[in-house]
Amino acid sequence: MWKKAADLILQDVENENEIKRYAVILRINLLIMMGYYLLSLTQSVIMRREAAGTVTVIGFLLCAWMFHATYHNKTELVSYVFNVSLSALIICFGLMFGNMVPVYNFFYLQIILVYAIDYLSFKWKLTWVGGVVALRIGLFVYLMYHPAVYLVEGEEIAVTQIFHILTMCLLLVFTISFSTQDFREMQKKLVSYNRKLKNIASVDPLTGLPNRRSGMEYICEKAKKYQGGETNALTIAIGDIDFFKRVNDTYGHNCGDVVLKTLADIFENFMEGKGKAVRWGGEEFLFIFNDINGDEASFMLSDLRKRVRDVEFRFADDIIKISLTFGVAEYDLRKGADETINEADHKLYIGKENGRDIIIY
Ligand code: GH3
Ligand code: MG
Ligand code: MG
Repeated sequence: MWKKAADLILQDVENENEIKRYAVILRINLLIMMGYYLLSLTQSVIMRREAAGTVTVIGFLLCAWMFHATYHNKTELVSYVFNVSLSALIICFGLMFGNMVPVYNFFYLQIILVYAIDYLSFKWKLTWVGGVVALRIGLFVYLMYHPAVYLVEGEEIAVTQIFHILTMCLLLVFTISFSTQDFREMQKKLVSYNRKLKNIASVDPLTGLPNRRSGMEYICEKAKKYQGGETNALTIAIGDIDFFKRVNDTYGHNCGDVVLKTLADIFENFMEGKGKAVRWGGEEFLFIFNDINGDEASFMLSDLRKRVRDVEFRFADDIIKISLTFGVAEYDLRKGADETINEADHKLYIGKENGRDIIIY
């Protein structure tokens, strides 16, 4: 039953130009107001107040008509009629019950509705708010000097106060939560979209390794720690695949890609707990050793070099063997990241000159 009621309230509007959210806000408000009118009618009958009873019956019927109209492409019209009917209610009950019955609190709902249900231009919204504020003040002042139609006293004041406070609370909670729903959903989407963007901007799509940009960020972050004395060393190595062009030329670019991906996985595993492997570009990889000096890093790289040499890449009937040449440089605080990388690059060049498959430190 609850599900059916919820489906009815949340039912979409048929008209393409109307917004479902507005219709839902209005339907919930109208249902609460119908309950309000029914209870007010009971009170009027008990207290034998004919005029108040008539207002509640008219109010109830009007709400029922508006509720029905939200299913027939009249959301905009309903939003205006509902707002005007609230003003009429404030005036009628204000004159009947005086300042002691807080019916005039409905004017807060009017202001929120004007902004939550966005059919009016900014100028008209301000005009409307000005109007209801003037009405609220005018009525209050008028009632200070003129007696209300009915006398409300004693416990009835307390009961009606509580009744109006609860009604207002319900109206405001539903109106605000539904009108900010899109905003909250949008915020969630933005957060996950930003995460995706960050990932795209920092990860190399082929190998899944950090790219050059995030590699540089990582070096700067670790260099700060080194400079601050939190770590004792920082070493950067560049590894370049030997004769990689031949692999592409002989077995095709796709085969080259598979080799790169496989090596990237090996590098990533190898660097776990030591720092990070980064795809520096093409078939060049950067190895950032955090809190590890040049000697230690060179020793570790000789292990990696062996591991790579042991891998057999099979294509068709052939087995391809891959080797890498490494240039290693310890981070020098006086020189900075770029110069340390240049130094490693220079050593890599020396390694290539000296026959490849070698680590130069
Ligand atoms: P060296 O030992 O001197 O480094 O020789 P090399 O053949 O590895 O060096 P070279 O710079 O001549 O060639 C690098 C090759 O790497 C050329 C390029 O096609 C290939 N390469 C770069 N990026 C990719 C990639 O993303 N996928 C594939 N399959 N090949 C790539
Ligand atoms: Mg190269
Ligand atoms: Mg190469």
